[in-house]
Amino acid sequence: MSPSAPDHEDDPAERKMRFLFTLRSHGVTDGRVLTAMERIDRGRFVTGIFSARAYEDMPLPISCGQTISQPSVVGLMTQALNVQPRDVVLEVGTGSGYQAAILGQLARRVYTVDRHRRLVREAVELFTTLGLTNITAVARDGSFGLPEQAPFDRIIVTAAAEDPPSPLLQQLKPGGIMVLPVGQSDTVQSLIKVTRTETGFDYDELRPVRFVPLVEGLASD
Ligand code: SAH
Repeated sequence: MSPSAPDHEDDPAERKMRFLFTLRSHGVTDGRVLTAMERIDRGRFVTGIFSARAYEDMPLPISCGQTISQPSVVGLMTQALNVQPRDVVLEVGTGSGYQAAILGQLARRVYTVDRHRRLVREAVELFTTLGLTNITAVARDGSFGLPEQAPFDRIIVTAAAEDPPSPLLQQLKPGGIMVLPVGQSDTVQSLIKVTRTETGFDYDELRPVRFVPLVEGLASD
C-alpha cells in the first residue's frame, strides 16, 4: 500500500457504514429512522475538539455544559416515538439540534425548545445552513411545553424529570406518544413511553438511560 493511500478510518462512506452498523447492533432497525440518521451528519452538530469523535456511539459535550446524546439512544428514542409523515412533534431539550434534525426528516413539522438561548441560536443557524426548513427552535422552559402550538402528535424530552411534566401530558393528542427519561437521580433513570388513549395514559418502561436533568426556568445565556 502506498503511504498516501487513504486510511479507511477517515473514509466518509466507511465511517457511515460503521455508524449505521453500530445503530443496528443496538436495536435501531426501523428503516425510516436509519435513513434519517444516514442523511443527517452528526459531525455538523459537534464542534471543537470533540468533532473527531462525532461518529462514535457516545454522548459528547456541547456548549452551555450540555451534551449531545449517544447516537444509539437517539435512534432508539426516535424509533419508540413512531413518527408519522403528517405528525407535528415537540422536542424539549434542543441541545445541539441533532435529535430535532432527525425528527425533521420524519415529521411534517418539529418544534424544539431549550432553556439556553445560545443553544437555540446556534441550532437555528445550523438548521438554516443545512436547509432544514421544517424545524422551529424557541428559547423556553420546556417543562411547560409550547401551548401556542399544542396539541402535538408526538413529544420527546431529552432531559430527565422525576415524572412526566403534566403540561406535556396535556399537550399530547389522544393517540399521541411521548418518549422521555424519568428518574429521581442523575444516575438511575428509565426511558419511558407514554401513550395517550381516549380515557387516560398508558406507560411502558423501555430501558435504563442517563440524561442531564430537566431544569426549571430559562438560563441566563
Ligand atoms: N436533544 C439534544 C441533547 C439534549 S441535552 C441533542 O440532540 O443534542 C438536554 C438539553 O435539555 C440541554 O440542552 C438543556 O439545556 C435542555 N433543558 C434542560 N432543562 C430544560 C427545560 N426545562 N426546558 C428546555 N430545555 C431544557
